[in-house]
Amino acid sequence: MPSFTVISLGAGVQSTTMLLMALHGEFDRMPDAAIFADTGAEPEWVYRHLEWLEEVASRYHFPIVRAQAGNLMHDLLHAASGQRNRIANPPFYVRGGALEKPEAMGTLMRKCTRDYKIDVIIRAIRERLLGLRPRQRVPKGTQVEQWIGISLDEATRIKPSRHRYITNRWPLIEKEMTRSDCLAWLVKHGYPEPPKSACLFCPYHSDAVWQEIRTQSPEEWRRVVELDRVIRTGLPKVRGQVYLHRSLLPIDEVTIDPHRSDSRPQFENECEGMCGV
Ligand code: SF4
Repeated sequence: MPSFTVISLGAGVQSTTMLLMALHGEFDRMPDAAIFADTGAEPEWVYRHLEWLEEVASRYHFPIVRAQAGNLMHDLLHAASGQRNRIANPPFYVRGGALEKPEAMGTLMRKCTRDYKIDVIIRAIRERLLGLRPRQRVPKGTQVEQWIGISLDEATRIKPSRHRYITNRWPLIEKEMTRSDCLAWLVKHGYPEPPKSACLFCPYHSDAVWQEIRTQSPEEWRRVVELDRVIRTGLPKVRGQVYLHRSLLPIDEVTIDPHRSDSRPQFENECEGMCGV
């Protein structure tokens, strides 16, 4: 039996379902808390959904911890304007990053997930759950079980914990639930469908999501367009031209086709289960 059990809450379909199922007593035990790693850059609709979840969880006296390492949007803007010399980049698209092939297209190595999500959750477990100081050793015998919201259709994203005192567990997989099963469970219990949870500017967005931001949230779209403009050549230690959209066009010049199937469907729900890392 672990000393503590935590839910890693991304606030998308899978982890929302997992949390609500836990509150309904559908697993072998009730976790002690859920931790939401806030990049500070989620769309407003994710924060509204999170507030609703917090309200539901409070009826069960179940704590949801918000933990944050910074605001990824602000940090990117500062990096692009020279005010930071290091930034954990999202996997933005790059044209001409390789000097020998100036027109070659590639992507930046994704660092955002580790710095703004995975490490944030580990820190919250250590400091807020276990009461440890930075770098203090975890007492012998302490074991934390971390529940991750990966569904059966995403089973390839399962990865063991890198920390000896944390064991990862995938309750939705144990119940053989797919994403559709999660949605069906939510409908059956009268809960709303959670929104996609990913940073506003995540380059993994499908055109359908870009379209949703553009039409439903003009102020957030304006910020996306601004970020896309400033990262073009401004990011530290990055060669070539950087774009949010895989077409390698400025985002406000892309012909967004919400019906176009994503060229990388495996990333459809990427930031659930902590961006698939
Ligand atoms: S949603 Fe995208 S940009 Fe945000 S942390 Fe995950 S991979 Fe990075």
